[in-house]
Formats: sequence, structure tokens, C-alpha cells
Amino acid sequence: MNKTIINKVVEILENEYQEVACTLNYRAPLELLISTMLSAQCTDARVNIVTPMLFSQYKSVNDFADADIKAIEEIIRSTGFYHNKAQNMINCCIQIRDEYNGEIPAVMEELVKLSGVGRKTANVYLSEIHHTPGIIVDTHAKRLTNRIGLTKQTEPEKIERDLMKKIPKEKWSDFSHRLVFHGRAVCHARNPKCEICKLNEICEYNKKNIKKDI
Ligand code: SF4
Repeated sequence: MNKTIINKVVEILENEYQEVACTLNYRAPLELLISTMLSAQCTDARVNIVTPMLFSQYKSVNDFADADIKAIEEIIRSTGFYHNKAQNMINCCIQIRDEYNGEIPAVMEELVKLSGVGRKTANVYLSEIHHTPGIIVDTHAKRLTNRIGLTKQTEPEKIERDLMKKIPKEKWSDFSHRLVFHGRAVCHARNPKCEICKLNEICEYNKKNIKKDI
């Protein structure tokens, strides 16, 4: 897909979803970090249901670092993979307390050293809290970028690096949010609504399907 068409995709999504933002609820950087960890393999809506209870009981890095894993598991159970998530959030906060003086690091290279924090979580955190542009490759971004033809890469980190070369840096974060919005509204994992999609004339997936029908 050439640069002109990629710019067109960016522009169409900008027009379609003018106001975009992270859909996880949080009041403080630690809450965003924990919420993003919880959102793996889970919807933001589900995470937003469990976090008020979680954050009413665990308010600080020390609270999480000293937490009883079973008590956390009980609260976050409905988000899936709750044992690993609970273990990761405790270990992550132990690292922040013991290795980073209680401060969540503000750079990618350090964030990804934290337990349970991959590039996706780190990019969400950095773009929201520090306004550092980032391509956030979640399940929607992965599916849509492949379908549309923005990348041929299939591994999240390779998709991220590929898109970083193709999309202007200042647009990285909002473009990522727009992919999520479009994935939720139109380009569903099953039965994408190609017939009403504003990208259907340039989307590789749709073009292939039209050819099959002819
Ligand atoms: S045309 Fe279809 S596959 Fe392509 S982005 Fe739109 S909904 Fe998704």
C-alpha cells in the first residue's frame, strides 16, 4: 500500500472518529498502568467495571506490592487470566517500589522491564500520561492493519515498527485509538460491515472479497 493511500486511510478515520481517547477509566498514572495490564484479552468496558472496587482497596504502589494475591484475584477474576494478571501487578509494583524509588518509569526501555508490561501497555501509558506518541497494537489494531493492507506484518512489535515508518509521528496515538473505535463500530472480528465502511474502496480485504464474488 503506497503512502498516498495510507494517508487517505488516516484521513478517513480522522473524519469518521474526530474525538478519540483512551476508553479505560483512570484517575492516576498507576491506575492507568494497572488497568491497561488488566485489559489484555479483555474489553475496556469489563475492566472499567472491576477497577472501581480494585482501586478503592489498593491505592498506591505499596498497597499493590504488599497485596495478598488471592484477594486481588477475587476482584479481577472476570477479566480473565486473573492469576497471571494479579501476580504481574504485584510483581510490577514491587519493582517500582524497590528499583524505581516508587516512581513509574517514563521511558519505554524501563517500562518494558516491569512485570506484565509489554510494548502495548507501555505505549498506552506513555501516550496518555506523558503525551509521547506511540503506535498501540492491540487486537483491533492487529486485525484492521492487516485487513486494510497497512502492513503485511503479523506480530504486534513488527506491526508497530512498520506503522511507525509509514504514519507521521504526531498521529501515532490518535490513529491507534481510531483503529480501536473502527474495530468496535464497523470492522468486527467476525462479519465486518464492509458495505457501510468508509474504507471499503481502498481496503485490501474488501477488494479481495469483491473479486471472489464476481
Ligand atoms: S472494508 Fe471491511 S475489512 Fe476493510 S476496514 Fe472496512 S469493515 Fe474492515
